[in-house]
Amino acid sequence: MNCYGRKLKSFRANLHTHSTTSDGSFPPEEVIRRYAGAAYDVLAFTDHWKTNPVSSYDPHGMTLLSGVELHPPGPRGIRWHILGVGLPEDFAYPELQSGQAAVDAVNAAGGIAFCAHPYWCGFTSADVMSLKNILGIEVYNTSTRYIGKEYNMQCWDELLNAGKKYTALAVDDVHSERDLFRGFTVILAENKKPETLLRALRNGDFYASQGPLFKKIAFANGILEAEFTPVTSAIVVSNGPSGYCETVANFGGESYGEPEKTSLRRDFSDKKSGYLRIQLKDVSGKMAWSNPIWLG
Ligand SMILES: [Zn+2]
Ligand SMILES: [Zn+2]
Repeated sequence: MNCYGRKLKSFRANLHTHSTTSDGSFPPEEVIRRYAGAAYDVLAFTDHWKTNPVSSYDPHGMTLLSGVELHPPGPRGIRWHILGVGLPEDFAYPELQSGQAAVDAVNAAGGIAFCAHPYWCGFTSADVMSLKNILGIEVYNTSTRYIGKEYNMQCWDELLNAGKKYTALAVDDVHSERDLFRGFTVILAENKKPETLLRALRNGDFYASQGPLFKKIAFANGILEAEFTPVTSAIVVSNGPSGYCETVANFGGESYGEPEKTSLRRDFSDKKSGYLRIQLKDVSGKMAWSNPIWLG
């Protein structure tokens, strides 16, 4: 993929995975076999409170990342779901009294932290904003779709509107068969060594998707350009009521036979501050989300 002028490889990742190490129904070897069989490149194990000995597993050609999901107490008696990835397999943490303590423990161990599925938890963007030094949130989480809370776009935009430079993942949060292969993160990097993938995640070199794939994202001299697999809707989301819609073809239904779009180009040179992010939707309703570009 052409990522802001750099030619990078695309690695399909599921960064939120449970196994029988906690409350998942698949043993680690089985969940690896499933994702490798679906042509994933990267799988992060993030069992509740527990890491996995990922270096002892047969990766079936994938890169396995060590991680954890932590649940310290949060606002209004709600527990946080803090996703930590890139952690030592023997990651040990003190008793965690707050979300910030969990984030700090992840960062101190060399990992990266995200706030998992805030809508499902019952957290507001103001709650999420209270966490310092997270990389972002999950914009889509498969396992929370069963109560209609799989999307976190509004929370993300509220954070971005407040100037919080958060990225966003799409994940399966797989616990069982029904959660497989519906939300993934594409990491853009030179290779799929763990340290290279983690550096790319820290740099924001990735995007979230349920299906559509980006082929190019470029931003130079105020011109935003993107190329992608065919979609019926390509929108640039920005601060407040500003934004841009390349097309909303087919919103009336497939029967219109509108041509599907594979590119977007827009001059934003008169916009001096804030953010731009690209949001795609294909004919089957599957979405993809670029990370935000910051202006000024
Ligand atoms: Zn969770
Ligand atoms: Zn989870």
